Amino acid sequence: MRKILVVGAGQSGLQLALGLQSQGYEVTLMSNRTADEVRAGRVMSTQCMFDTALQHERDLQINFWESQAPRIQGLGVSVAAPDSSRAVDWVGMLDGYAQSVDQRIKMAGWMETFAQRGGQLVIHGAAVSDLDFFARRYDLVLVSAGKGELVSMFGRDAARSPYTAPQRALAVAYVHGMGPRPEHPDFDAVRCNLVPGVGELFVMPTLTNSGRADILFWEGLPGGPLDVFQGMKDPNEHLAVTLELLERYLPWEYARSTKVELTDANGTLAGRYTPTVRDPVGRLPGGGLVLGVGDVVVANDPITGQGSNSASKCAASYLASIVERGEEPFDEQWMRETFDRYWRTAQHVTKWTNAMLAPPPEHVLNIIGAAGQFQPIADRFANGFDDPSDFENFFYDPAKAEAYLGEVAARV
Ligand SMILES: Cc1cc2nc3c(=O)[nH]c(=O)nc-3n(C[C@H](O)[C@H](O)[C@H](O)COP(=O)(O)OP(=O)(O)OC[C@H]3O[C@@H](n4cnc5c(N)ncnc54)[C@H](O)[C@@H]3O)c2cc1C
Repeated sequence: MRKILVVGAGQSGLQLALGLQSQGYEVTLMSNRTADEVRAGRVMSTQCMFDTALQHERDLQINFWESQAPRIQGLGVSVAAPDSSRAVDWVGMLDGYAQSVDQRIKMAGWMETFAQRGGQLVIHGAAVSDLDFFARRYDLVLVSAGKGELVSMFGRDAARSPYTAPQRALAVAYVHGMGPRPEHPDFDAVRCNLVPGVGELFVMPTLTNSGRADILFWEGLPGGPLDVFQGMKDPNEHLAVTLELLERYLPWEYARSTKVELTDANGTLAGRYTPTVRDPVGRLPGGGLVLGVGDVVVANDPITGQGSNSASKCAASYLASIVERGEEPFDEQWMRETFDRYWRTAQHVTKWTNAMLAPPPEHVLNIIGAAGQFQPIADRFANGFDDPSDFENFFYDPAKAEAYLGEVAARV
């Protein structure tokens, strides 16, 4: 059977490795950390995944935590007015529920499953020189190493990457003890809180090592009042500052956060990165070619919560392309076609995410406002997180937005 090397054990690499393994490929997976190190390590994401991405996991029967993780049935938007009152507040209902399973649980569990099923798991931080060596011994080398150093092998695609610097400073805290949303205590939802000119706060339930928890995730404009977490070493200070900012900008979220405590000493994360689309084919010094997967090729800002979803969609799309290739060589043309097939979905994610990073134009403010009056608009916006290609129909173009809002108003 064909031999495939997967470098990097995150959402995209592990899902692909497990999928290939189930199809009988001889798969080697290289990870720079052991499962135990991942499980006991720092949180990596908020990893909220929507129905289409979750379905890819179900299809491979690797949805091991589905019954334990909270079911996120809605997606709400609140907008803070300058006096910190709530100018907008609505929740759209998702057609299929979303879920967040702490990547520490999922990646550690999937690594163990891969090894138990006979996969070769190599614990090693791969360098370009290693890949040079391995490219000659494998039919295909897939690089799914996230935003780490190996991305330097893949050239930045300037035409698809409008930003040259990070657009948000990110600060995450996993907490226990968060109160329910008083408006809808009966179902779980992600809440996106927008603070114009300052940033956003996302609140969502998750399944972490110590059970059900909530995540407080600030996205701050660089240099602004939320950009204060970089270099903060003490997790308790990180939480204290998170809560101070909540009290100042989003009192309705603060009101249900007064009793929270961190889930664990590794339950905080701060960082930033530049959204970047890359050339999917990496050329090794010895002439071998490698194909980038997931964040390596398309890294969007987490403002729209799409990276894990995209990693799952990328893994599913690549799996289909690999299987359909049969015994033919995995040459450069095939690599480019494989990426292009994934890009047909990913382009919508990138376009929408990059749009959300910019100050909203008037017609987008109108959509967000109208969603508070008309439930179908709120529902459509929420379900766009599952399939962002729908935003093409009503979100970007002022005329299409106006026509859509008029049509709903006439119908309801
Ligand atoms: C703060 C934050 C919040 C987010 N929230 C969401 C969200 O709510 N929803 C969502 O869908 N996405 C979210 N994302 C994005 C999402 O986490 C990523 O897009 C997703 O994890 C990418 O998966 P991946 O497999 O491509 O890479 P990764 O998950 O980064 O996995 C790469 C793996 O490769 C390993 N590695 C790196 N270098 C090497 C090497 N040289 N050799 C071997 N192994 C290596 C890394 O240790 C890691 O295990 C968020 C991201 C951040 C930072």
